[in-house]
Amino acid sequence: MAASESQPGSQSPLESPSAEQLRKGFKWLRFSGPLEQDFREAYRAQSRVAVQLNLWLCLSLVITFALIARAILPEGTDRLVMLFSAGIFVPIVLLSLVGAYSPLYWRWHSLMVQVLAPAFGVNLVFLALMVRGLETSFLPGLVLAIISIYFLAGLTFFPAARSGLIVLAAYVVGSAFSTIELDRALYGSLVLLSANIIGATVCYRLEKVNRTNFLEARLLKEMASRDGLTGIYNRRILDEHVDTVWQQAMRERAPIALLLVDIDYFKAYNDYFGHQAGDEALRHVAQSLARSARRPLDFAARYGGEEFAVVLYYATREYVEEVAARIRQNMEALALKHPASPIAKHLTVSIGAACVVPAPERSPFGFVQLADEALYEAKGQGRNRCIIMDKEYEQMSTGSFRKTYSSDVRPELARRA
Ligand code: GH3
Ligand code: MG
Ligand code: MG
Repeated sequence: MAASESQPGSQSPLESPSAEQLRKGFKWLRFSGPLEQDFREAYRAQSRVAVQLNLWLCLSLVITFALIARAILPEGTDRLVMLFSAGIFVPIVLLSLVGAYSPLYWRWHSLMVQVLAPAFGVNLVFLALMVRGLETSFLPGLVLAIISIYFLAGLTFFPAARSGLIVLAAYVVGSAFSTIELDRALYGSLVLLSANIIGATVCYRLEKVNRTNFLEARLLKEMASRDGLTGIYNRRILDEHVDTVWQQAMRERAPIALLLVDIDYFKAYNDYFGHQAGDEALRHVAQSLARSARRPLDFAARYGGEEFAVVLYYATREYVEEVAARIRQNMEALALKHPASPIAKHLTVSIGAACVVPAPERSPFGFVQLADEALYEAKGQGRNRCIIMDKEYEQMSTGSFRKTYSSDVRPELARRA
């Protein structure tokens, strides 16, 4: 996953940088924050094969043009063309080709092309201006070079425009110092300016479409990982996250924790205020939970119904206690009135936490089971509290559930076993 992509734990509940960027727009072809870096990486990866193919195309065009020039240009000029081709143009394309096939190069691709492409174009300008009387016959070649910079080199708009304009500037400056007549120089400059304008216009539009597609694809992915009601991660991502964290913690022998958070007497809340108020309360609780899991690797998701899950990495018992206390404090601060609750004036939660160092002979199912046992205990002891289980992990056998967790009562857990 890329830097800012919906990496569990790396972003707060309802914010979506992609949606925000789509709303704000990006007329200067730049995203804010880490999105820009992600786009560039994705763009590089996406244009890699195309650029490799384009370079082969460029190589064959350069060689073909050199051979045609040799066949049709007067003696002397054809030697000059061959010299430039063999000494400059072919080596530049070959150098780019070698780079394009080495993985290390791609970090530097944009920079390299911004040096090599104008170098190619500027040398072509020199060649064009050196062959007296034939300056305009080299114009199509220069136009092709500029178009290639915009469309074949895998550059984004601004670097492409810079490189294309360097070639135009080289032509204008070179003409001033060469013996070319003014009207020919003006004509040539106008042709190259037009090539730049066409290249830049299409390149800008293409990049705009590319960037919009990038944001929309990300948004779609983000939406598929979010719970529709509360905006925090959904059950599918939770399951994936638990499996990933489990494997990683086993390798690093790191303690991890799972907190199952269940709203107390929520059915009564719904019955009292109605389901819409219940939905609103679920949103508040979800946001409050996501705020409680603050460290970069902390993760909060909706487990289902009025139950939520928080996964903590490198979680000592003290840290779990701290997070559980913060969750309950935040619930108090929310102060959602619950007149139908027999235990408090406001909406409260019960928390069951499992705190383990994953062992190879165990599975994540037992981890979830332990947290569920702890939650059951918290409910049994009167609700509005947190029970942490860690030692019990040593004695439990994964996949064996209490009788009360039979498949008809907790089908999802029975299925997991
Ligand atoms: P306990 O303290 O034992 O957890 O009691 P409870 O009433 O919270 O638990 P119970 O399992 O009996 O009821 C859960 C309630 O959560 C029932 C259901 O209507 C409500 N609920 C589940 N999902 C949603 C939802 O998406 N929106 C709303 N408004 N209510 C939901
Ligand atoms: Mg429940
Ligand atoms: Mg409940």
